[in-house]
Amino acid sequence: MFCPKCATPNTDGASFCRSCGANISLVPQALTGQLARPSEQTDLTDESVCAVPGKSRRPPTLDSAFRSVFMGIAFLLISIALSRSIAQAGGFGC
Ligand SMILES: [Zn+2]
Repeated sequence: MFCPKCATPNTDGASFCRSCGANISLVPQALTGQLARPSEQTDLTDESVCAVPGKSRRPPTLDSAFRSVFMGIAFLLISIALSRSIAQAGGFGC
């Protein structure tokens, strides 16, 4: 396995790079995707407040995406309504 910092080839299972001393013990885990697991826990603690407990096993990416889209649309509508009301209040002098 190669060091991500200096690209020095190290033996598999080595914890530190023999050239620059960087911690490469997490490199094989990152390559196999094991580092992605702790993010699920953060998602659970983050979403379990608002989400249904039964759905906590599924990653709520679509749900949060829809939520953000709706929030964006709502913000857009509100801003349009505000700008219109401001334009009417100002009067364009017709
Ligand atoms: Zn290195």
